[in-house]
Amino acid sequence: MFIGHFGAGFTGKKFSKSASLGTYFMAAQWVDLIWPILLLLGIEKVEIDPGVSAVTPLDFTYYPFTHSLVGIIIWGVLFGAVYFFIKKDLKTSIILGSLVVSHWFLDLLVHIPDLPIFPGEGIKVGLNLWNSLTATLIVEGLIFATGVFLYYKTTTAKNKIGTYSLIALVVFLVIIYLSNLFGPPPDSVEAIGIVGNAQWLIVLWGYWIDRNRE
Ligand SMILES: [Zn+2]
Repeated sequence: MFIGHFGAGFTGKKFSKSASLGTYFMAAQWVDLIWPILLLLGIEKVEIDPGVSAVTPLDFTYYPFTHSLVGIIIWGVLFGAVYFFIKKDLKTSIILGSLVVSHWFLDLLVHIPDLPIFPGEGIKVGLNLWNSLTATLIVEGLIFATGVFLYYKTTTAKNKIGTYSLIALVVFLVIIYLSNLFGPPPDSVEAIGIVGNAQWLIVLWGYWIDRNRE
């Protein structure tokens, strides 16, 4: 899942206005921000295997630190704890920690059974919406659209940048998503890692939008 996680990030503002949209993006997409780094370090593994599902050519063979249920709960607790340590805001810390964990459950909807419960060997789960491109587009599109709608309703632009930076990000995310779905598979695991790290720019974009809306 890609834009669905950003949809979840957009909803954060509905529950607490304290944190920036950039922080909510970071929480919702946290394990996919760490994953490219672990790929480049050779700690987690992915294989490029077109046809492994109808939607993605990626076969997620080994990603226990970022994408096991136990792993993501630990990340969620850590993320919430760090935010609490800095801001002393329990409610927002809990929302951020929950957003980190939401990532696993959103991935659970779409992934083939490749998501481990525990780090290490054992049962792997996935509800396999990726078997159908249409179903994936509908479900993920709805999650994204709901998040954008809630964020748009909860905040108002302070200036023109506040309007256009948001529209531009929504368009940009949709284009990236569609080109991932319909474009050629990536050349190499290194390319996935490098492009994946560019997602930090989307987090920065979230901070930029948030500064221009209230
Ligand atoms: Zn993920």
